[in-house]
Amino acid sequence: MLTPEQLTGRDERHLVELAQGHRLQSAAAAAFARLQADARAAGFDLAIASSYRSYERQRLIWNGKARGERPVHDDIGNAVAILALPAAERIRAILRFSALPGTSRHHWGTDLDVYDAAAVPGDYVLQLSPQEVAPDGPFDPLHRWLDAQMAAGTSHGFYRPYGVDRGGVAPERWHLSYAPLAASCGGRVTAALLRDCWGRDREPLLLRPELEARLPELLARYVEVPADWCPALFTAGDAGGT
Ligand SMILES: [Zn+2]
Repeated sequence: MLTPEQLTGRDERHLVELAQGHRLQSAAAAAFARLQADARAAGFDLAIASSYRSYERQRLIWNGKARGERPVHDDIGNAVAILALPAAERIRAILRFSALPGTSRHHWGTDLDVYDAAAVPGDYVLQLSPQEVAPDGPFDPLHRWLDAQMAAGTSHGFYRPYGVDRGGVAPERWHLSYAPLAASCGGRVTAALLRDCWGRDREPLLLRPELEARLPELLARYVEVPADWCPALFTAGDAGGT
């Protein structure tokens, strides 16, 4: 069971080091190695684009976007003039593609973004864009293979929390989550947990007053994922805390 600090990306003692500086919890890392081996046998080079991400890193991303220093895009890839928007619209535009600091599933050490390194040249600049995972994109074959593994129960516990568009976070086909560990984390990311987390922050989180005023609504829309993102067997044990 993760501590509040681990759930919000402010304690990294639950993680093990993988190649290229990536980090995950050890059970998730072992399961991912098995998924990679299966992928290799099927002709894919299942590679990690992003794994554990700290609270601090997420705050840098958030503040950079809120200040207009990092690009923010709309659903069809056009740049959004973020500073021209009122606060509520700015929050909506950022949350479509970036997690609220403290709520990212990447804090948990259970979630990662993946791509097929065998499908692109070595100097390819990875975007993690909808086009790359669309039916004519380079990573569609990998994702169709992953879909088949998930449907067959042979994905070693990995499923897609953002597989479909529910109107909040944009669909992220590249984002995989290790259900045996992640299923019990989502319900613990509450308004109280976040207020406490932000209250301990050394650097200001931009738009914090506007965020705090709407926390329950924002959590429901952008953070909570319906329980059916993974098979019920992984969520059944929640109440018992096992
Ligand atoms: Zn992700």
